[in-house]
Amino acid sequence: MIKEKKTGQLIVISSPSGGGKGSVISGLLKNDNKGRWLSVSTTSRAIRENDIPGETYNFVSKEEFEKKISENYFLEYTNYVGNYYGTPKEFIKEKLNAGIDVILEIEIEGASNIKKLIPEALFIFIMPPSIKILVDRLKRRKTDSYEKMLERFHTAYKEINEVTKYNYVVVNDDLDEAIAKVEAIIKAEKCRVDRIEEVFLDTKEEEIHELLMEDDDFDNSGIGDKIL
Ligand code: 5GP
Repeated sequence: MIKEKKTGQLIVISSPSGGGKGSVISGLLKNDNKGRWLSVSTTSRAIRENDIPGETYNFVSKEEFEKKISENYFLEYTNYVGNYYGTPKEFIKEKLNAGIDVILEIEIEGASNIKKLIPEALFIFIMPPSIKILVDRLKRRKTDSYEKMLERFHTAYKEINEVTKYNYVVVNDDLDEAIAKVEAIIKAEKCRVDRIEEVFLDTKEEEIHELLMEDDDFDNSGIGDKIL
């Protein structure tokens, strides 16, 4: 009866550093790693202890990043707290055309640029449950100096105020609950009417006539009296 778009959904997920989006995204990929793909960004920031080059990011020098900008390599890029971060264009179109959902884990300026380019993308903001928890999570990242942490906190606080630019906000208080909420959002988005390409009759007129005339046990005589 309906023909739906078979393309994947572009899902943009942001949260301030320490908002917990990484854990939410890991949960989403664990639930479905065939129908979803997480884009690997390129960055000029220093490698951290938990980073796996080529998996968490592709690490390049500032000069290499700038060369890639000039080669039009990025769908979007930004300078965040002194370092470059960018989403390579590569693979995104292929994945979407193959019906695979593409997840971009990016900060708000990048998300805002994606919104201009692809307004039909889905924008989800993962919110830390409180400022105290946000600060605790920032402190856990021991590689950052105090000044860097303070800068990250100010950036995070500014970002929280941009939440209304997103389609959905999920408070990451309980991780399983947060993942379940994002799953529900993704499922609901797949049912949006703008994903319908065509509505058509999949039964011939004669068959419809036969169905209408079919003698079943339903007796509708006097139904109006029963209702009234
Ligand atoms: P971190 O240094 O903590 O790994 O990342 C800092 C911020 O950069 C995070 O908010 C992260 O989501 C964002 N980020 C990572 N990759 C990209 C990207 O390709 N583009 C943009 N705009 N932001 C990114």
